[in-house]
Amino acid sequence: MSYRLGCGIVRVVINMRLKGIRRFHYARDLEEALSLLSAYGGRGAVLAGGLDLARSARADLEGLIDISGLGLSYVRAEGGGLRIGATTTLTDLLESRPAREYLGGFLGEVLRQVAAPPLRNQATFGGAVVSAHPWADIPTVLVALGAEVSFQDEAGRHKGLLEELWEKPFRHIFKGAVLTEVILPPWDGAFAFAKLTRSAYDIALLNCACGLGIQDGRISWARVALGATPRRGRRLPWLEDLLVGKEPGPGLWAEVKELVPEKVEVGTDRRASGDWRRAVAGPLLTRCLARAARKVTGGNL
Ligand SMILES: Cc1cc2nc3c(=O)[nH]c(=O)nc-3n(C[C@H](O)[C@H](O)[C@H](O)COP(=O)(O)OP(=O)(O)OC[C@H]3O[C@@H](n4cnc5c(N)ncnc54)[C@H](O)[C@@H]3O)c2cc1C
Repeated sequence: MSYRLGCGIVRVVINMRLKGIRRFHYARDLEEALSLLSAYGGRGAVLAGGLDLARSARADLEGLIDISGLGLSYVRAEGGGLRIGATTTLTDLLESRPAREYLGGFLGEVLRQVAAPPLRNQATFGGAVVSAHPWADIPTVLVALGAEVSFQDEAGRHKGLLEELWEKPFRHIFKGAVLTEVILPPWDGAFAFAKLTRSAYDIALLNCACGLGIQDGRISWARVALGATPRRGRRLPWLEDLLVGKEPGPGLWAEVKELVPEKVEVGTDRRASGDWRRAVAGPLLTRCLARAARKVTGGNL
C-alpha cells in the first residue's frame, strides 16, 4: 500500500471514528502547525501517518493538523550518529542508506520486526515516539540507544533525552508541541534486539535491546533495556553495571540468566502473566546479549 493511498484510507477511518472532527488542516510550516495547535487549546492534534489516531476514540478532538508538508521526512548521517525527521515513515527509514549503515544495520534488524510492511509504509518514526505504546519495540530500542529528541512549542525549541522525556507527562506536552527530530548517537560497539511474540507480525509479549562495547576481551560499556513488561521499555542499570568489566561468554550469560528472575520488574496484562515474563526474561536477555557480543567480536564468541 502506498503512503498516499494509506493517507486516504486513514482519513476515511478517522472521519468514522473521531466523530468530533470538524476540520483538517495542512500546515505549510512549523509556525502554522504550532499556532493551529495553540488555537485548538488541546482539542486539536497533529496527524502524521494516522495509524494511532485512526484507532483512537478521542471524542474531544475537533481539528487535525497534517504535518506531512513540513519537510520533516529525512534521514541524515552525522558524526557516526543519525538524525531522523519526525515524519519519516518506518519503510523510508528502513530503506535509507544512512540507517542501513548505522551500527551495521541494527535499525533494519529492529524495524523488520515492527508491524507489517503496509503499516510500516504509513507509520512515522515521530508517531511511534509520541504514541510510545508500552508494548512497542521502538521505545525499548530508543532507550537502549540513548536517543535524544527535538521538539518545538510556542515557547521555542527543546532538546532532551527521550528516556527522561518519557518520565514526564509527555502526552500533555505534545498537545501543544511538534516533535521534529530524533537523534541517535554514535556507539563504538554493537547492538542487538530480541522480542517474543505469538506470531511474526504480532506485538511483543516482551522485548529487549542490548548494546555492548568490548575492549581487551572485557565489556567496556553496556546498555540494556527491557520493554513490554508490560510497561514501556526501561534500562536495567543493575545489569549494565554487572556486565561492565566482565568477560563476555557462556559463563557470564549463565550468571545473568540466574539473576534476572529475582531482579526484573515485570507484571501481568491481558497478553501474558508476570510469572511467564519472569521465566522468559533471562533467556531473552542473554540471547540478545550474546548476539551483541558476537557482532562486536565478528562472531568470535
Ligand atoms: C496494527 C499495529 C501494529 C503495530 N505493531 C508495532 C510493533 O510491532 N512494534 C512497534 O514498535 N510498534 C508497533 N506499532 C506502533 C506503530 O509504530 C505506531 O502506531 C506508529 O508508528 C504511529 O505513527 P503514526 O505516524 O501513524 O502516528 P499518528 O497516528 O499520526 O499519531 C500518533 C500520535 O502521535 C501524535 N504525533 C504524531 N506525530 C507527531 C509529531 N511529529 N509531533 C507531535 N505529535 C505527533 C499524534 O497527534 C497522535 O497523538 C503498531 C501499530 C499498529 C496500528
